[in-house]
Amino acid sequence: MQHTAPLSDMPAAFLAKHSPDAPVLFLAPSVLQATARRFQADFDGLVTYAVKANDRAEVLSNLVAAGITTFDVASPAEVAAVRAVCPQAVLHYNNPVRSEAEVAAGIAAGVASWSVDDPSELAKLADVPRSAEVAVRFALPVKGAAYDFGSKFGAAPELAAELLRKVVEMGFTPSLCFHPGTQCNDPQAWAQYVRAAAGILRAANVSIERMNIGGGFAVDRGFDAPDHRAVFAAVNVALAESFGDDAPTLLCEPGRAMVADAGVLATRIKGMRAEGRTVFLNDGIYGGLPDLRDMGLSGLVDVVGPDGALRRGTATPRIVFGPTCDSLDRLPDGLPLPEDAQTGDYLLFGGMGAYSIAMSTAFNGYGLGRVELVSGLGT
Ligand SMILES: *Cc1c(COP(=O)(O)O)cnc(C)c1O
Repeated sequence: MQHTAPLSDMPAAFLAKHSPDAPVLFLAPSVLQATARRFQADFDGLVTYAVKANDRAEVLSNLVAAGITTFDVASPAEVAAVRAVCPQAVLHYNNPVRSEAEVAAGIAAGVASWSVDDPSELAKLADVPRSAEVAVRFALPVKGAAYDFGSKFGAAPELAAELLRKVVEMGFTPSLCFHPGTQCNDPQAWAQYVRAAAGILRAANVSIERMNIGGGFAVDRGFDAPDHRAVFAAVNVALAESFGDDAPTLLCEPGRAMVADAGVLATRIKGMRAEGRTVFLNDGIYGGLPDLRDMGLSGLVDVVGPDGALRRGTATPRIVFGPTCDSLDRLPDGLPLPEDAQTGDYLLFGGMGAYSIAMSTAFNGYGLGRVELVSGLGT
């Protein structure tokens, strides 16, 4: 299965033909499948997908087609989304804070692996069948990511060792997991975690069969192209140094890096003011572009006219607002757009398959809701 719907024209041709007045996310199944295959070829372990980056059926089914059968889910709704496209999928429930009802839903769905970072959450897993794996999530004060996940989740190493011992006492298969933070470009961040894992296992006097090195792998945002192989190599070096022949097998759970490159987000210029210095788009931080607010501007923006032709004027920095009546609905200042950009033109944001439609709201009646599958993403 290559896709779940017929393929549309390429983005610029589609825009010229249909003149959509609401934002459109163009997804290329061929790109998505190639990324999934590359991860599996390059990573010496099990590649899983973190569903929160993009939970659309089109994404999940193409990942299944490319050989991904294990999914990191964080809620009953994500469990249902995965089961709908792949009834046999293996589920890892790695949101470490769960209500009793969510635990029950995970048990009913046959979740194979659960992560915990606090004794109160481990206690909630009392009714989970003992065939399950329980991975203790730990966190270090490590830099290198666009933003750090350790401030929310993850036990300090000492507590992690204590939790591991309890996991064994309860009869579960013990494991360790971590997440260095999203859009992390420093291979040494992972290496530090791997070395710390060895220390935690020594302190707990527990050995594990596999370890989850998380997601966080960076994507190309128009600058600083990432090197996932360098991350995998650093992980392997740290693993050999710290574990020797006793190394656990690995799994990883990319979200952003699995799906970002497969998506282009087309937004339209609704209006311009102050001689074009201020631009109003039909999408913004409450729609498909919240990630820009947190990650900074993308270097991957093309502008095409209503006829689909690329604007080639000299780029000048603009102030860009989204469509809602909220003044917070504004992209980071200084987005460079060609001088000849006009009202009615389309901005094509590359690398937007992740954390775009998954985060969109319908605030003020706007938002990103439309996906078109395409054979490629060129303009
Ligand atoms: C969000 C998340 C991921 C994916 O992170 P990316 O930065 O998108 O790769 C992986 N694992 C867990 C537990 C997460 O919460």
